[in-house]
Formats: sequence, structure tokens, C-alpha cells
Amino acid sequence: MATIINGKEIAAQIKAEVRAEVDQLKAEGMNPGLAVVLVGNNPASRVYVTNKKKDCAEVGFASYEYTLPEETTEAELLELVEQLNRDDTVQGILVQLPLPDQICEQTILRAIAPEKDVDAFHPENVGHIMIGDYAFLPCTPAGVIEMIDRAGIELQGKHCVVIGRSNIVGKPMAMLLLHRNATVTICHSRTKNLAEQTRQADILVAAVGKANFVTADMVKPGAVVIDVGMNRNAEGKLVGDVAYDEVEQIASAITPVPGGVGPMTRAILMHNTLTAAKIAFTKRS
Ligand code: NAP
Repeated sequence: MATIINGKEIAAQIKAEVRAEVDQLKAEGMNPGLAVVLVGNNPASRVYVTNKKKDCAEVGFASYEYTLPEETTEAELLELVEQLNRDDTVQGILVQLPLPDQICEQTILRAIAPEKDVDAFHPENVGHIMIGDYAFLPCTPAGVIEMIDRAGIELQGKHCVVIGRSNIVGKPMAMLLLHRNATVTICHSRTKNLAEQTRQADILVAAVGKANFVTADMVKPGAVVIDVGMNRNAEGKLVGDVAYDEVEQIASAITPVPGGVGPMTRAILMHNTLTAAKIAFTKRS
């Protein structure tokens, strides 16, 4: 039976650490703030934005929510982003994805000031991540690294296999693992003999978006299995990409869904907002 890596508990520790630093900043007369922009009526996005506001309240950040209608134009959203870029009360800006079809996501992400880009999706920040010289890391991959570290699992020299190559999860995940001296394989939908690849993994990260995708026969006995996936099964229950019940029998450690990577992503967003605030306040003083 695998050790369960409890993302909820680790995330709570991180948020407590952020809270302590926010209290310190406030004692020095600084009041960090995160702006979250939601366009349209995507119910999942609505939940994410509500959770971000809750997290802000928990760690002591001011949060500013901007809810725009589904028919918002790209020009209107750009205008709001530019206004937030200039706003000194806001140190972090997050535009919730996905955006409605009439708005180009890349155009919006590029418009966010890189020093306020707490999601780390701006090409300038992506470049910094590639080089290994960065202020912010994308929340989900950084959350995965943090939970591996805090679970006491060594990365150096390990063979890590990442399933998924999205700009948000798979690619930056692979890069962060590489920065930590792991040997990294990235798999995707065109990978041949996927199970052969995944069975090589000391640490397997699944970021596919398909329930029960990773089955026990794809996992080397004793491997660490990190499940990034967030899917709804036929009963509407939140499940990951990993067939948890069978993989848990052979893995040495595993992250559950819910209560694994999800809470870590939220905690790292708070950490990134704190970093953005510290950078802004240092520049001001
Ligand atoms: P995505 O953009 O849809 O990417 C999915 C990746 O999986 C793609 O690279 C795709 O390959 C690959 N893939 C699909 N079918 C495959 C197959 N049969 N064999 C091998 N690879 C396959 O999704 P994403 O944004 O990276 O998210 C992945 C999952 O993580 C989703 O469930 C999402 O909800 C979840 N997520 C969770 C968090 C969190 O906080 N826990 C945060 C972000 C995302 P191709 O590139 O070849 O198409």
C-alpha cells in the first residue's frame, strides 16, 4: 500500500507560511492584493475564482474580483488588464482560463505585466523558467515539486515520466523536474507504447485529463505517482487521471484526487502573489 501524499495538509502549511509573511508586510504598512478576472459563465471557472477569493482571505490578501459578461470583447478585456497593470493596489493579476472564443488567450496573457503575472504564463516568464532564473513558477507544476520535496522524496537522478505536454502543466512540469536534476521523459497522445515508457518511471506525473487513464500495468512497482488530473466521472464525482484503487496497491507513494495537487496549485498561487508583492514593495521603497 502506498503512502498517501496529503496535498491538503501541505497546502495548509504553505498558506500558514504565506500568512505569517503577509502579517509582517502589513505591520510594515503594505497591503498585498490579487485581482482575479472572470469572463463568462463557465461553472468550473466560477468555483475556481470563489476558491481563490477564499484563499486570499485566509492568507490576508486583499482580493478584487472582476466579473465580465460572456460577450466581452478582447479590446474590453485588454483595457481592464491595462488598468490593473497600472493599479498600485494590485500586485498580482490572474485572468481565469478558458476565455470565450472571441478572445485570444495568448493576446491577453501577453498583456499582463510580467511582474504581476502570478500564473507565470506570460512568454517572458515562460522564458525565465526555461533558463532556470525566475521569480514565479506556474502554480500546478510548482505545487507538484513542493509536495514531492515536502514528502521527503529525492528527485536528483530519478527517471521522471510526465504524461501530457500542455503549456500550463506538462511542459513546465518537465522543465522543473529537469532543473532538479531528474532525467525526464515527456509523453503525449502520439507517444508509441506509452505503457512501456511509463513503466520506466521512478516518478510518474499524469496530466492527461482522462479518468482512470493510468492503470496498474503502466506503473513500476514502488514508483511515486502524482495525479494532476481533474475529471468528473459518470456520477459527477471529482477523480484524477490515475485508477487510484489499483495503482495505490503497487506505488510507494501517491497523491489522491481530491486532496492532492489541486490544493497545492491554490497554495502556490498565494505564494506567487506574496512574491509579486514583495518585489513591488521593494521597488517602491
Ligand atoms: P490538456 O491541455 O488537455 O493536455 C492534455 C495532455 O494529455 C496533452 O498533451 C495530450 O497530448 C495528452 N494526452 C491526451 N490523451 C493522451 C493519450 N491517450 N496518451 C498520452 N497522452 C495523452 O490538459 P492540461 O491543461 O494539461 O490538464 C491536464 C489535466 O490536469 C486535466 O484533467 C486538468 O483538469 C488537470 N489540471 C489540474 C490542475 C490542478 O490544480 N490539479 C491544474 C491544471 C490542470 P497531445 O499534446 O498530443 O494532445
